Amino acid sequence: MENQKLAQMFDKIADALEIKGENRFKIIAYRKASQILNNLTSDIYDHYQNDELQKIPGIGEGIAKKIKEYFETGQIKKLKEAFQGLPESLLDLLSIPSLGPRTVALAYQKLKVKNLQDLEKAIRNGSLASLPGMGEKKIDNIMKGIEFLKKALGRIPLGKAFVMVNELLKELSGWEEIKQISPAGSYRRMKETVGDIDILVTSDDPKKVMDQFTALDIVARVKAKGPTRSSIETDEGFQVDLRIVDDTSFGAALQYFTGSKAHNVKLRSLAKDKGLKINEYGVFKDEKYVAGKTEEQVYQALGLEFIPPEMREDLGEIELAQKKIPRIISYDHFPGDLHIHSTYSDGESSLKEIVEEAMKYGYKFVGIADHSKSVKYAGGLSIEKLLEKNDEIDKLQKQYPKIRILKAAEVDILIDGSLDYPDHILSQLDVVIAAIHTGFSNDPEGRILKAMDNQYVHIIAHPTGRLLSQREAYNVDMDKLLEKASRSKKAMEINAYWDRLDLNDYDCRKAREHGVKLAIGTDSHHISGMWQMVLGIGVARRAWLTKKDIYNFDI
Ligand SMILES: [Zn+2]
Ligand SMILES: [Zn+2]
Repeated sequence: MENQKLAQMFDKIADALEIKGENRFKIIAYRKASQILNNLTSDIYDHYQNDELQKIPGIGEGIAKKIKEYFETGQIKKLKEAFQGLPESLLDLLSIPSLGPRTVALAYQKLKVKNLQDLEKAIRNGSLASLPGMGEKKIDNIMKGIEFLKKALGRIPLGKAFVMVNELLKELSGWEEIKQISPAGSYRRMKETVGDIDILVTSDDPKKVMDQFTALDIVARVKAKGPTRSSIETDEGFQVDLRIVDDTSFGAALQYFTGSKAHNVKLRSLAKDKGLKINEYGVFKDEKYVAGKTEEQVYQALGLEFIPPEMREDLGEIELAQKKIPRIISYDHFPGDLHIHSTYSDGESSLKEIVEEAMKYGYKFVGIADHSKSVKYAGGLSIEKLLEKNDEIDKLQKQYPKIRILKAAEVDILIDGSLDYPDHILSQLDVVIAAIHTGFSNDPEGRILKAMDNQYVHIIAHPTGRLLSQREAYNVDMDKLLEKASRSKKAMEINAYWDRLDLNDYDCRKAREHGVKLAIGTDSHHISGMWQMVLGIGVARRAWLTKKDIYNFDI
């Protein structure tokens, strides 16, 4: 259906007119048209074909004409016209969440702000604050919006790509024409957001592999097709590149395409110092091939231990690899998940389902943490209900002696920093995860610090509150939190839910330096979400965490 696309076009026209300061009624008319199209449940194309556009309530002659023009010519001239004389970069500004077209218009007209850079400058030199209606808080929000936009441009959250890529890898591994296969790029390094997906394979029948790849069900568009590289766009909008390389180069190509860029630059200069050359085809000495079949051999040829992909960011790992790489935690044999919601609060799986699923993962324990009483919107448990749940756990534990079922709770940190259950209740729990869910602007730092004073708290959940796709971290001084966590022996969470990944790799590294342990939990609300543990382990590996840094191994 073209409804959404047309709605967007009308919205853009309205944006442009608003920035230019044109007639308010015209602007309102386009906004209204966009809204009507967005809410329309039938296909606008049918209305056009039956010549019944104006029968849709709210669609007048002018808008009907433009819809007709779109279906007849594929464009709306007015859109181009509206943007005439406006810099294209203004459109980027409009995608900043906290910045409306009216403010963009003001900033453009009064301060000549044309792009992100101009806008940041106007914030720093205070000129944006001088515009009417600009409070300090609004400016703060715009600044956060800018950061957010920068990160969001062109990147996909890892967890969103993960399921698709795994299914694709499984499918390709089943083809007999494919001998070796591996993903590469930022995906393989488990970065929290990834660009395009790169997959490398070796094959004796490249043509057949490429024919099959470009004909897969998930392909929405073939962007390129060649004997050694093809590029497709999936129906979810991911770009996937498949490269076919020689057996002798597979390790070198994998190393090269996994990156990061900074890691590879450092590696090349190290090679040079040793009189070697390294590229995507192999390691060479005096133009003679030395290594390249496997990544291990590539690193070995340079006198280095193998470096796990998640560590390859040029943060000291190459220097370490000349001596000894730390034994970072593995994706296999992880002991258990600490943060799962059941039907007792806002989860959708029963205790029994969660326990059985946890056993399929081979876990030694599972922590079932439901919300506490104040979180009404998420079905927070009253004290009575919590005790009832604990009784059910006792009964289940007898039925499932092979796995430890932890009595856990995700207990809210209230506005005054106190906890949502009294101490005599907290003391009956195996794991107390303290969390902020409301009042994000209400001193989250002070509240978390106070919660750490409670002797029954084990873990601080999603400590910065950020959501990758929609919300910036709240204002906390991470060093302050980590200092206190270290003193009070609290663990910080790596919330492995794909949209959180909170703490992130950067803060986890800081936590390690402060001697603070990290507790990994998926925050699953259904057993189908428990796979996300792999994302949390990825964060931990990127932060070089070993078993002794991870709270889960202490249980
Ligand atoms: Zn939570
Ligand atoms: Zn939770």
